[in-house]
Amino acid sequence: MWDLSAALQQRREQNLFRQRRTLQPLAEGRCVFEGRTLINFSSNDYLGLTFHPSMIATAKDVASSHGVGSGASHLVSGHSSWHHQLEVNAAKLLGRDRALLFSTGYMANLGVISALIGRSEVVIEDKLNHASLLDAAVLARAKLDRFVHNDINDLRRCLEKSTQAKQLVAVDGVFSMDGDIAPLKDMAALVNQYDAALMVDDAHGFGVLGNHGAGSLNEFGLDQQQVPILMSTLGKAIGSYGAIVSGSEALIETLIQFARPYIYTTALPSAVAAVSCTALEILSKEPERRQHLHSLIAHFKAGAQHRNIQLMASDTAIQPILVGDSGRCLKLSQRLLEAGFYVGAIRPPTVPVNTARLRVTLSAAHSIADVDSLLDRLAEVLND
Ligand SMILES: *Cc1c(COP(=O)(O)O)cnc(C)c1O
Repeated sequence: MWDLSAALQQRREQNLFRQRRTLQPLAEGRCVFEGRTLINFSSNDYLGLTFHPSMIATAKDVASSHGVGSGASHLVSGHSSWHHQLEVNAAKLLGRDRALLFSTGYMANLGVISALIGRSEVVIEDKLNHASLLDAAVLARAKLDRFVHNDINDLRRCLEKSTQAKQLVAVDGVFSMDGDIAPLKDMAALVNQYDAALMVDDAHGFGVLGNHGAGSLNEFGLDQQQVPILMSTLGKAIGSYGAIVSGSEALIETLIQFARPYIYTTALPSAVAAVSCTALEILSKEPERRQHLHSLIAHFKAGAQHRNIQLMASDTAIQPILVGDSGRCLKLSQRLLEAGFYVGAIRPPTVPVNTARLRVTLSAAHSIADVDSLLDRLAEVLND
């Protein structure tokens, strides 16, 4: 084996070394770390569903009746009535013809792009897209062209430049490290003018935006005609695990035939699919979760302004505070931790160089008092 230590040492010296902290999650947006209970402001459990009693009950029931592991891939013998039910219910909620359940959002993105786009065909992506969309272009051996974040004119430049008949444009609906929303209405109109296809990754919009939490496309009133490919993850606001790709009958059949990350992996456990079904019901039955989250977002933004804390341009549950230097960002995160708040320090290569940030994520599991205490402490540590 060759020497691996030099690259590791370099990461340490650049303050970019990543370390996992072992946490015990708790209800009400809390977690235990090294024996201390912290308020967790870095989870994507935006609706506070992971401890929902009905979801826990579903997990137990279906694990008892269907076993824990699914035992095989979907095309062999792993596809159960729960997987099927989730696809049917998700398609209905999202207002689309059909849906396909993938084991993760990362795999869904790899699967869609590599099934639809071949070697030397073109994928056009926002520069701040999630890593999985960028990696998908590599798996497809596609030509990847990137446009300036949320910039319609730069997207037009990319569309005009290409001579390829087939062009796929892929964007995050809500950007995971910035919290801002793609101008999907303008994008859909433009992409359709060029006979290209638009794919939206709605990992952070699903559950949070739109009627019944149906997500970014619903928020903008965009249908399957305008945005033919939608990827919605189940591990964030939905509080479960997995991902749904939805669109036309032909799209879903194409993915079943050709999406290798769908075909060559074990189906996720039936209990997990069943938990997602319960979560989709809760989206409609408990709109107060979404309302509470949106009031926390408004409260956080107003409170930050009041305390002169500079936020980024976000109206979503992702509320980052730009720090710049990775070392300083780590120190700030550490000070918050000591004060009882878990807030992640997001550094390159997850975000561009010199844009390290504290990424605060809000959840319906938090209270107004939780948000106030975070704001007070943030104001203190940022002014030091
Ligand atoms: C989290 C995330 C994914 C990956 O989803 P997983 O189900 O966690 O694999 C994809 N895209 C975006 C924008 C994400 O934030």
